[in-house]
This record gives sequence, structure tokens and C-alpha cells, in this order.
Amino acid sequence: MNIVNITIFIAIFFIGASVGSFLNVVILRNKKNEKVIGKNNRSYCPSCHGEIRFFDLIPIFSYIFLKGRCRYCRYKIPISYFLIEIITGTIFLFIFLYNYYVTQLDSNLFIITLFHYTIASFAIIIFLYDLWYGEILDKFSITLLIIVLLFEFIFFRGNIFEILISTFIGFAFFGIQFFISKGKWIGGGDLRLGAIMGAILGYNIFIALFLSYFIASMYAMPAIYKKYVKKEKVNSEIPFGPFLILGTFITIYLGDKILEFLL
Ligand SMILES: [Zn+2]
Repeated sequence: MNIVNITIFIAIFFIGASVGSFLNVVILRNKKNEKVIGKNNRSYCPSCHGEIRFFDLIPIFSYIFLKGRCRYCRYKIPISYFLIEIITGTIFLFIFLYNYYVTQLDSNLFIITLFHYTIASFAIIIFLYDLWYGEILDKFSITLLIIVLLFEFIFFRGNIFEILISTFIGFAFFGIQFFISKGKWIGGGDLRLGAIMGAILGYNIFIALFLSYFIASMYAMPAIYKKYVKKEKVNSEIPFGPFLILGTFITIYLGDKILEFLL
């Protein structure tokens, strides 16, 4: 671990944090139906509408220097901004370290890492949008599906037949539940997410589905306990998308290890 490496790692973390800051803007502006990029579309404070200058847009640092408040009106900036920057930076650094040290990619390190960054960015948007607004927007899910399939057809490493089958499996797995429950158990967005999982993971999609349901049931335990044991009223509707994304993320980087362990 030398000084050059550490500098590169810090730089990658901050690129990730900047991307996280941008993803946050994409989510909020999509919710409000505003354009993400445009001439008169500078960032502004949602409270006093004061324009946020470039020196207040430095990821992580600006939030710390401004102590989490607007420079003009002292409006409290949600801590989620800060957390998303840190988490995205961490994910970007993790992906790079994984591809460099674990997979030991050489000539295709750059293109594969870029591919993983693209998947991660879309996944973060879909994760948070579903978590906050209970909805998976087609423009994010279908765009990601097309990008993943195109990338695999162009740069593919193995069996395209497997990818097409697993994409269909992911789609059908949720399609059947959607059909049986007439859309009550899961939303239409989960069908597209299922297809994306298959396209990314191949037959490892089964590991991801297992993990997603496992994590979701762990998460739901306290609510189930309150509802059925203590007979309290609970809001039992939780979006499933975030769990699918968590399961997929773990499977991309640990799927083969989990499979080895199970067999
Ligand atoms: Zn303000």
C-alpha cells in the first residue's frame, strides 16, 4: 500500500461521492418532474430558493463545513444527502478494489469497472426511489436492462443462451406471482427488476432470489411479531425492490463463494 495507491483510492471515493450527489438530484427532480440537466436548472435551496454555488456543492465537505444547513436561510439539509454521498463513494471504491485485487482484471479492468459503476448507479436510484416513493420507474429499470444486455452481447465472457434464459426466469418468477395475485403481492416494477437480475447474474439469480427473500423476512420479523402475536396494527406494506437489489449486490460479489459454501 503506497502513497500512489492511497491517492487513487481517495480519488475514486470522491468520484463516487460526486456521482452519489448527482443521483440524489436525479431522484428528487424525477419525483418533481423537473429536468435533470438544463440551462436554467442550477441547484437551489428548497426552502429559500437561494442558488447553491459551486463551492457549496463539493461532496461530503460542503455538508460538513455548512454543518448541514443552507448558507442563506439555515434550512436543515436532509442527512440523506450526506449519507448517499458517503455510501456511493464507498460502493465505487469497493467495486474498484474487488475488480483489481479479487477478480484481478487486467486489460479489461477499466471497461468492466465502468460497467459495474453503471449498474450500481442505476441500482442506487431504483433502490432509493422504491424505498421513498414505493415505485420503480420504467425509464430507470428498462434503460438498465437494455444497457446490461447490450454490454453482455458485445463484451460477453460466456454463455449468451444462459443469460437469455435467466433473464426470462427472473421475469417469469415475478410474472407468475403478479398474475396469481392480480398485482397485490408485488408490483409491475418487480417483474422488470427480476429480468435485470437474470441478465446480470445468469443462473446465480437463484442465489440472489434466496438472499432477497431471506433478508426481507428477517427485516419483516418485528412487524410480523407485532401483527400476529401482539395483535397490533402495523403497516405491513414494504417495497420489495430494495431487498432484490441488496440480494443482487451480494450475489455479484459473493455469489460463487456462497455457492461453494452451500455445495
Ligand atoms: Zn435556503
